[in-house]
Amino acid sequence: MTSYKELGLVNTVELFRKAVKGGYAIPAYNFNNMEQLQAIIQACVETKSPVILQVSAGARKYANQTMLRYMAQGAVEYSKELGYPIPIVLHLDHGDSFELCKSCIETGFSSVMIDGSHLPYDENVALTKKVVDFAHSQKDYVSVEGELGVLAGVEDDVAAEKSHYTQPSEVQDFVKKTGVDSLAISIGTSHGRTKFKPEQCTRTKDGILIPPPLRFDILEEIEKRLPGFPIVLHGSSSVPIEYVKIIEQYGGKLSDSVGIPEEQLRKAAKSAVCKINIDSDGRLAMTAMIRKVFSEKPDEFDPRKYLGPARDELKKLYAHKNQDVLGSAGQA
Ligand SMILES: [Zn+2]
Repeated sequence: MTSYKELGLVNTVELFRKAVKGGYAIPAYNFNNMEQLQAIIQACVETKSPVILQVSAGARKYANQTMLRYMAQGAVEYSKELGYPIPIVLHLDHGDSFELCKSCIETGFSSVMIDGSHLPYDENVALTKKVVDFAHSQKDYVSVEGELGVLAGVEDDVAAEKSHYTQPSEVQDFVKKTGVDSLAISIGTSHGRTKFKPEQCTRTKDGILIPPPLRFDILEEIEKRLPGFPIVLHGSSSVPIEYVKIIEQYGGKLSDSVGIPEEQLRKAAKSAVCKINIDSDGRLAMTAMIRKVFSEKPDEFDPRKYLGPARDELKKLYAHKNQDVLGSAGQA
């Protein structure tokens, strides 16, 4: 049994309180290798932003849960070494069972998500409450994120054909019965790099897809019913067309890529939305740089020579998100 405090991590409670009050959102970036983690920490130290490091089911399978936990501990030390220790949360993304949440909590995670959004309402309440009761009764309070409504798209092992918007009529009851610290909602964001079908979008004359806007009316209704309560948006990558173009220029094929425009996320971050999950954009940035190096320098075979530029681009992307989209820069 290791408490996250021994690792130098923090839970989300204080960070979310400040973020809701200050009208910004904390970045939640996924990681499953060293270069991603370095980029996240470098960007967040440089922009003085708190950060939530997210571990998904796919990341645990790929890199091993223990490995990732020690990497997060390393990240805490790394931020100190860079001269500006920022608040760092280690968060389980899309936990799917009580046992998994318990195992993460016992090995040093400071926050977990229990995703019962695919279950019937009462089962979602019961499962979420069970995780909350365990997490909150630890010596050091572990925060819990629940979810109501279903996001479309594919993210590692989480996949749904269609989205179901969160029903504002359920949120008060859910929060009251479960005791969650934050609530992920579905208002039109989606997992992956093809967030909408082409037929849901309009096209510019260059063929670029313009997505339908987020359902801010649902968000406002939820905020009315839960004043000041921390709200979370998953699937909030913007899928920058510049990266898609580089990838396709160097042999990739990513047809019909479309994300959430950054100005909509900026607007959401100013509301009760205080955690915004971004993963696909980082994947695109890294892939773009790696393809570029492979194509321009066919004789290169030192992994540092392509993972290095990928890491640098990722850092640039995350610094931009903190500064220009989430508003978390300067808040650490
Ligand atoms: Zn998600």
